[in-house]
Amino acid sequence: MTAPARLLVVGASASGLTTVEAVRRKGYSGEVVVIGDEPHAPYDRPPLSKQVLSGAWEAERATLRTDEVLSGLDADFVLGEEAVALDVPTRTVRTAAGRELSADAVVIATGVRARALPGQDGLAGVHVLRSLDDALALKTDLRPGARLVVVGEGVLGSEIAATACALGLDVTLTGPLDAPMALQVGPMVSGLLADLHRERGVRLRLGAGCAGLTGRDGRVTGVELTTGETLPADVVVVAIGAAPATQWLADSGLALDNGVVCDSRCRAADGIYAVGDVARFHHEGYGRLVRLENRTNATEQAAAVAAVILGEDRPYAPVPYFWTDQFDAKLQVHGMLPADAEVEIVEGEVAARRFVARYTSDGVVTGVLGWNMPKQTRLRRQEVVDGLHTPVSTP
Ligand SMILES: Cc1cc2nc3c(=O)[nH]c(=O)nc-3n(C[C@H](O)[C@H](O)[C@H](O)COP(=O)(O)OP(=O)(O)OC[C@H]3O[C@@H](n4cnc5c(N)ncnc54)[C@H](O)[C@@H]3O)c2cc1C
Repeated sequence: MTAPARLLVVGASASGLTTVEAVRRKGYSGEVVVIGDEPHAPYDRPPLSKQVLSGAWEAERATLRTDEVLSGLDADFVLGEEAVALDVPTRTVRTAAGRELSADAVVIATGVRARALPGQDGLAGVHVLRSLDDALALKTDLRPGARLVVVGEGVLGSEIAATACALGLDVTLTGPLDAPMALQVGPMVSGLLADLHRERGVRLRLGAGCAGLTGRDGRVTGVELTTGETLPADVVVVAIGAAPATQWLADSGLALDNGVVCDSRCRAADGIYAVGDVARFHHEGYGRLVRLENRTNATEQAAAVAAVILGEDRPYAPVPYFWTDQFDAKLQVHGMLPADAEVEIVEGEVAARRFVARYTSDGVVTGVLGWNMPKQTRLRRQEVVDGLHTPVSTP
């Protein structure tokens, strides 16, 4: 297979940028164009809910590369321009400005968009957090003493609650599950997170869905729960997950099902690939389609796609990894943590809030979670790698 003469990447963030860097590192000298709908140079999202929101970092510090490094990539960055259509047979992308760009290889790296609650648009004081502009808008509303309600007890909602609480806001975290991050880390660790949040002053109003928002004179005043209760609020963050940014591909004929469906080489069609949060690829280790919304995957999958574009034939089958920082707790997760897995503490002590937990399903290690024990957690990753290659016996 010959290297494409022209590479077009749609999405100018972590996975798009890393794809370009990876092909250049491998010696690719063809033409590269990157289209991104945000006006900013590529920046990192994890600090948005942590250092940028807390004010520990100026926004510029989240920028992923300096101007010099970007120009050293010899790529044409078309920023502030949205891709609106893809013609698969000719690999031609059309933008909202009417530009048409064709390439021999197209990489879809458009990530995800925050989900919204019905009726939230137009109500002042209601925020989502996906982009740098979202983070800056939210930050101006986070005044000490203000009543903040965070809707959504997942990773992002729990992080925002922790950051805002440390800034001196009166924070309530609400969501349908009974503990922060219950879906991501299972009952034992989410119970510990609930204790941590409560101790630090976050009010938990969990186990109840959100029925809607209340407002007066165009500004939010509260969050209505399905129980009939209303949580008074000066500011609301809606953190109810995100949907793959595939709307622009609706008429393309690509398989779209909770992301761009790809094979194990991250190929969606001939010469068309997907990478990062938007890609739902066949994971040969798990034997099923997987879509990973985490920062490490954005980098690792970009490297894998770059290799495939340049002719290597290797499946992408990573051990998923994510981390989260809440108050003084740093959690790191390798692998998958099914809610019904057996959980065993294999290092440290829960009471000391320094431990590593191993998650096992049907005798196979599916994941490890570390709480303030980064080195020991990393050392245990191999157990997850081994588990991934252990055939699971079916009864
Ligand atoms: C606030 C926040 C905190 C996070 N914290 C963590 C963390 O602690 N740990 C962790 O592992 N992960 C974290 N993540 C997740 C991580 O940031 C993502 O997994 C990563 O950014 C994915 O990169 P991506 O390039 O695939 O997608 P994105 O970063 O979403 O980038 C996609 C880009 O494509 C653009 N785009 C979309 N549609 C179009 C279009 N039609 N035309 C042109 N451009 C388009 C988007 O505007 C965006 O700029 C966090 C995410 C957020 C939002």
